[in-house]
Amino acid sequence: MTHTDENSDPVLDEVLSSVLRRNPGEPEFHQAVREVLESLGRVIAKHPRYANNALIERICEPERQIIFRVPWVNDKNQVEINRGFRVQFNSALGPYKGGIRFHPSVNLGIIKFLGFEQIFKNALTGMPIGGGKGGSDFDPRGRSDAEIMRFCQSFMLELHRHLGEYTDVPAGDIGVGGREIGYMFGQYKRLTNRYEAGVLTGKGLVYGGSLARKEATGFGAVYFVDRMLTSRGDSIEGKTAVVSGSGNVAIYTIEKLQSFGGKIIACSDSNGYIVDEDGIDLALVKEIKEVRRQRISEYARLKGGRSHYVEGGSIWNVPCQIAMPSATQNELTGKDAKTLIENGVIAVGEGANMPSTPEAVRLFQQAGVLFAPGKAANAGGVATSALEMQQNASRDSWSFEQTEARLAEIMRNIHDRCATTADEYGAPGDYVLGANIAGFVRVAEAMDAMGVI
Ligand code: GLU
Repeated sequence: MTHTDENSDPVLDEVLSSVLRRNPGEPEFHQAVREVLESLGRVIAKHPRYANNALIERICEPERQIIFRVPWVNDKNQVEINRGFRVQFNSALGPYKGGIRFHPSVNLGIIKFLGFEQIFKNALTGMPIGGGKGGSDFDPRGRSDAEIMRFCQSFMLELHRHLGEYTDVPAGDIGVGGREIGYMFGQYKRLTNRYEAGVLTGKGLVYGGSLARKEATGFGAVYFVDRMLTSRGDSIEGKTAVVSGSGNVAIYTIEKLQSFGGKIIACSDSNGYIVDEDGIDLALVKEIKEVRRQRISEYARLKGGRSHYVEGGSIWNVPCQIAMPSATQNELTGKDAKTLIENGVIAVGEGANMPSTPEAVRLFQQAGVLFAPGKAANAGGVATSALEMQQNASRDSWSFEQTEARLAEIMRNIHDRCATTADEYGAPGDYVLGANIAGFVRVAEAMDAMGVI
């Protein structure tokens, strides 16, 4: 383990080498575990009992991992096969909770990294939710509506037996939005003959969804960045920002940054990025991505003016003061971090899960850039999922304002919990350390109280 002495501990070194040995070929999972373990040396020094009873090893081992075949029939009447996953990682704080990702890159290691991150993220929200994640290597791109529906139905045909409002509650992630959740909820309802609204979140508003859930991850990430800046006597107002991605997280990150007076000049998809010196026209991005389901290159073609499209390349070459990586894991490298720092970035907020490589995180922190790790900054999505579960349980639905006010309060609390934990453990301003420790302690306390589970 490469870390300073304060963060080191022989127990942690042993846990890490056993995780690496027992989970070969899962680099993203190794990366996520290493990052959390690197934060825990100071906790063990203060509370040696957390090193007992293989508690940390147990946290690194999923409670259950489900892998299944998903056969389905495409529009040409051919049978296709995909692989489905659900990793039920930790239920010490509540039912497993976490999204489902449909993307060709999905494999067990990716789902395990996401599930592991989710444990601590969910703990940080202060809400009663455990950690899990699922998905499939199914590629939704270019598929018809009917194909998407048949795939979702087949996926749920197997998954339904592992779910339940008190057991495991999935939601969306990359490639899974309102449309897919609708198809999955419909199939779950048929298979179980139960209207169990709290079994999935991110539902449509007419069948048990929550207002502000769609916006929550992006809005929440901006609330977090705003709080980081205001705690230093600064603000978003008048700052230029770059937001990678153009999916659900990116769109609502741009919307909230704009409402706080930020000027967003670039966003992207997996093919390339667009720059608009006049500020991104969000209505046009929404039309292209949410309605037409087209590539972001369309933006420059339709808008013209001072906008242009760059095929390939790195969006992080675009100079900005606020950077919000909101696309996918490891999208922002050490080289990108150097460029951003040279160009004067002052704050980075991760809307995606683990978008910055470890080298990038280190460089930001060394340069004194305010850095908000995904498990804290993007927790607003899952927190609002927990609010959706609350509304379902009480057969109620709250107004947008009420829900957003709760979200804002939750993000404030997460920020402050990370900041005070970092102070308490002698690393002021280190939100990575603060988030990892605050999340870990909550899970560790609950597991310790429950005996050897
Ligand atoms: N996929 C989202 C995340 O990474 C949301 C999960 C949820 O709402 O359960 O946190």
